[in-house]
Amino acid sequence: MNTEQTLSNLRSTLSPSDRMPLVFLGHGNPMNAITDTTFSRAWADLGRTLPRPQAILVVSAHWVTRRTTLVNVSNMPRTIHDFYGFPEALYDQQYPAPGQPDLAREVVTLLASHHAEEDEIWGLDHGAWTVLKHLYPEADIPVFQVSIDISRDLDYQLEIGRTLSQLRDRGVLVLGSGNVVHNLGAIRPGGKPLDFALEFDTLFADRLTGRDFAALTDREALGSLLKAAHPSMDHYLPALTVAGASDTRDDLTFMTDTIDLGSLSMRSFVFHGR
Ligand code: ZN
Repeated sequence: MNTEQTLSNLRSTLSPSDRMPLVFLGHGNPMNAITDTTFSRAWADLGRTLPRPQAILVVSAHWVTRRTTLVNVSNMPRTIHDFYGFPEALYDQQYPAPGQPDLAREVVTLLASHHAEEDEIWGLDHGAWTVLKHLYPEADIPVFQVSIDISRDLDYQLEIGRTLSQLRDRGVLVLGSGNVVHNLGAIRPGGKPLDFALEFDTLFADRLTGRDFAALTDREALGSLLKAAHPSMDHYLPALTVAGASDTRDDLTFMTDTIDLGSLSMRSFVFHGR
């Protein structure tokens, strides 16, 4: 199927819509799923203000692949409890939203040049469901995940975002879930924000505001600051996908811009289409 056919199929799968917003949420601790926190409350508030999507495409830090971009085509994506040592109540949680296999298969075609492939094994990892539980508690909107290919340069995720941006006019909410700063080795319970965490978080917000995405993907220029903020890139890449799907017509707003546990940025952001 070529891209033109894919687009015409999309038109039959999904009705045209006003340009949907783009959302990136800093998910942090999985316990946010079942705890009333500043963050979980902000996600619930956001869910009440967003237009209702026809489908949700999630790019989560916790689905990492190499040399391929997988797209989950399950009818009923399973809830994955991909964490250890948490209370039983967290393992009891389910997010029983349906999948959107038709759209997911079309996304595989759209991302063909990014080595996309269908996947039937994944479902919704905690990067997805712990925030969706608050955003859309009814679990009645079809949702599916797209993996992050960690073997590529950072601008690869910007390009994926750029390709996915066309779905915004078909009622699809693109949701990134990660953290703008994520260094688990440096976390300190009750700790004050570490200098590198504040510095990277501020730099990120400034560059994003200025739409200077090239600066956000320049590993050489970001140097040791990027390595301190992200010893591994998994929590950073979903923010780049969301940035890549934005355009200059969007208004950008930030939410929950705090550093938790010393080295975890909970900064979230929304691009509102116009
Ligand atoms: Zn995480």
